[in-house]
Amino acid sequence: MKAHDGMYIRGEWRPAAGTGTIAVVNPADEQIIAEVPAGTAQDVDAAVRAARDAFPGWAATPPAERAARIAALRDAMVARKDEIAETVTAELGTPIGLSQVVHANLPISVAGSFAELAGTYAFEEKAGNSTVLLEPVGVVGAITPWNYPLHQIVAKVAPALAAGCTVVLKPAEDTPLVAQLFAECVHEAGLPAGVFNLVTGLGAVAGQALAAHEGVDLVSFTGSTAVGRQIGATAGAAVKRVALELGGKSANVILPSADLAKAVKVGVANVMSNSGQTCSAWTRMLVHTDQYDEAVELARAAVAKYAAGDPHDPASRLGPVVSAKQRERVRGYIDQGVAAGARLVAGGSEAPHPAGYYVAPTVFADVTPEMTIAQEEIFGPVISMLRYADEDDALRIANGTVYGLAGAVWAGDEAEAVAFARRMETGQVDINGGRFNPLAPFGGYKQSGVGRELGTHGLAEYLQTKSLQF
Ligand code: NAP
Ligand code: MG
Repeated sequence: MKAHDGMYIRGEWRPAAGTGTIAVVNPADEQIIAEVPAGTAQDVDAAVRAARDAFPGWAATPPAERAARIAALRDAMVARKDEIAETVTAELGTPIGLSQVVHANLPISVAGSFAELAGTYAFEEKAGNSTVLLEPVGVVGAITPWNYPLHQIVAKVAPALAAGCTVVLKPAEDTPLVAQLFAECVHEAGLPAGVFNLVTGLGAVAGQALAAHEGVDLVSFTGSTAVGRQIGATAGAAVKRVALELGGKSANVILPSADLAKAVKVGVANVMSNSGQTCSAWTRMLVHTDQYDEAVELARAAVAKYAAGDPHDPASRLGPVVSAKQRERVRGYIDQGVAAGARLVAGGSEAPHPAGYYVAPTVFADVTPEMTIAQEEIFGPVISMLRYADEDDALRIANGTVYGLAGAVWAGDEAEAVAFARRMETGQVDINGGRFNPLAPFGGYKQSGVGRELGTHGLAEYLQTKSLQF
């Protein structure tokens, strides 16, 4: 697609208030592929006003009609799914096959789920002698990251629209092109002017202005814990609703009765997918001490299949990370792991390619729970393998971080895995591999966040209640 040089506000592309621009870089070859405007507080203000003006009309639109518009938005994305995949590959560097299956198809399925929910959800319920009305919260400020750029947009915008809210979106500076493509889809779907507005820009400028704007009723943020903490504080001071989807350091717990080869192979694939840039990735693999050496060999063999290379080459199974800054961050963690005494069994911090922000697929063995690489989110293709002595030890290690976003348990028998999963302090657990479910609530325990996305729980975040007594 061709980049827009304006903001999408009140149903049209209009010039930005300032003259600053953001260069969009292809992380596979470090070339600048486009420029988009860097929005200011003035652009944010114009967008919030548009969303405020559109709110009463959209909130009063019957749910069936809102559902029809969201279905049209889904259809517009379906018609352009190849373009979505190409755009994400160009600005994020994901291998094209993964872009098609995940970056294009997943948001289409999530938009479809909210089109259906908008039409079927009970926006009114009875409680004794009361009727409880579930009403839209108002104007939503959505701030999204670059790792699943369209999914994270749709996971906020679709339920907000289904609830009757209007939206201002500030997407990540690294991936603004797919956000512009999404705005084109909104336009094609015939949503009323001002119901959805897009301001591209830097987090510290446009993001901050949006989070602090008094015309915003709810801030929904996905990204780092550091920024999330700041946004939570700003929202708290203004007594404004906030949803935070933050980092993770999820455990892949392989119990002794499990199919070890399968658990290791799927665990490696889970981390390598999207170059490890997945907040819910199972970056800590926990293996019983008796099976540890075998698991390390299995992981070494599995990771060797992740050839890093050109995202358009079907043989590439691993793309670059998103930016030079992220590559340096990831390499820094790998060096820290080595310095702390962990054993590199694959990869390392040396660049596997002369150009592009590539990081070698990396596996660390002999990782102990207190090491930085076992505690902090690395956000790269790096796995830490830890040993446990018994189930209680495994649980202590699994629960022993500030995070609690996701996880996995493998066992010979499903009930055994479920019993362990019940004791985990985390928002989502895949049992023996699981299957992704776009209706399952997604979100964090502990410092992984506040609130849930997807399905009815995700929709409820955008609703507030009013009780009428009879
Ligand atoms: P980030 O800074 O938290 O970015 C997330 C979003 O917040 C972006 O749109 C960003 O804009 C915006 N933002 C940044 N500072 C802001 C502020 N002061 N006020 C309002 N909005 C602000 O994350 P990052 O720098 O891209 O990545 C850093 C680390 O965060 C990663 O290495 C990873 O550990 C974690 N992360 C987690 C997730 C997740 O899904 N949970 C996603 C991405 C990153 P800009 O794009 O302009 O910075
Ligand atoms: Mg940032």
